[in-house]
Amino acid sequence: MPEKDRISSAYIHVPFCNKICSYCDFCKIFYNEKIISKYLNSLEKEISSIYQNEELKTIYIGGGTPSSLSLNELETLLQILNKLKRADECEFTIEGNFESTTEEKLLLYKKYGINRLSFGLESTNEKHLKFLERTVDKKQVESIIKKAKELNFNNINIDLMYAMPEESLEDLIEDLDYILSLNIEHISTYSLIIEPHTKLGLKRIENINEDLDYEMYELICKKLKKHNYTHYEISNFSKKGYESRHNLCYWNNDEYYGFGLGASSYLNNKRITNTRSISKYLARNYQSDIEELNENDKIEYEIILNLRKASGISLEKFSNKYGKELKDFYNYQSLVEKRLLKETPNSLFIPENKWYISNEIIIKLLEGEVDGN
Ligand code: SF4
Repeated sequence: MPEKDRISSAYIHVPFCNKICSYCDFCKIFYNEKIISKYLNSLEKEISSIYQNEELKTIYIGGGTPSSLSLNELETLLQILNKLKRADECEFTIEGNFESTTEEKLLLYKKYGINRLSFGLESTNEKHLKFLERTVDKKQVESIIKKAKELNFNNINIDLMYAMPEESLEDLIEDLDYILSLNIEHISTYSLIIEPHTKLGLKRIENINEDLDYEMYELICKKLKKHNYTHYEISNFSKKGYESRHNLCYWNNDEYYGFGLGASSYLNNKRITNTRSISKYLARNYQSDIEELNENDKIEYEIILNLRKASGISLEKFSNKYGKELKDFYNYQSLVEKRLLKETPNSLFIPENKWYISNEIIIKLLEGEVDGN
């Protein structure tokens, strides 16, 4: 691939949120209009100092809650992003929640070429929403989805969370039925994992037991499959042709730009993490950590990320990229014999019924390193 086309994706982080959820471990800060213009200014400088004018096939504005910005602030952001060159049919996503999305904002998104919407819904059950410290107004959800469809947004994702303490399988079925009734193209699912420094972690709330978590995962997989969603990645489901091309760039271990507070990039064999300190970011002191990858690290990332996908590792692509076949680096035959991995002439993947234990399988594979590599 010519050097100039090597990077074809960019992530832009908008860290502002109107409310902070109890489980949140993301890089976020409270919405503050005094900070936003400075933030956008700093973001613009970051982009112009790093971006090399490549034609991008995917752009993803994530957060935080990008839709928490006012109409004017969003327009300033989108004008800045207009400087990113877009390939024809570039997948251009913006995240948001239903409460802060309006028809005017949808029209603005349309005007600037956004063609994929991703909404955090998480749950529709009052008890669990209270626990997550979130709110959802179903009427608002339905009206925004209807307006978005009228405006020809035909690639919409909704995030669903499960495994909240006290959540029953019936509660989960209700949430799934509701999301299915919206007839959207993509569903991302997240099992609640309570991190120690979140509000829930500080209250010492514990994760649900693993058996129930597994039962919930199974239920989601079966139900979404029955409704013609393809389970193309461990936690992601889409109608045919609506896989998230941006996230596939991560799982394919391709390089990408990451701009904004706390964003990560993978550029020139380096994994770079931006500062999470807003004062440092505003002072244009962007990067906080750089991990230089050697060949071994790159191969490990390739395996870990590729095996999240249903299609797994393309053996041909692997040998073209690393000059040797995967089996020359790792002896995974015993995992194939135990049916923990499946091999075809051109791919190696974890069968769907073993995805729940994919971490253990990947660790075993990496332990089978062939001596001398
Ligand atoms: S909306 Fe997302 S980023 Fe903001 S606090 Fe909630 S979980 Fe965190």
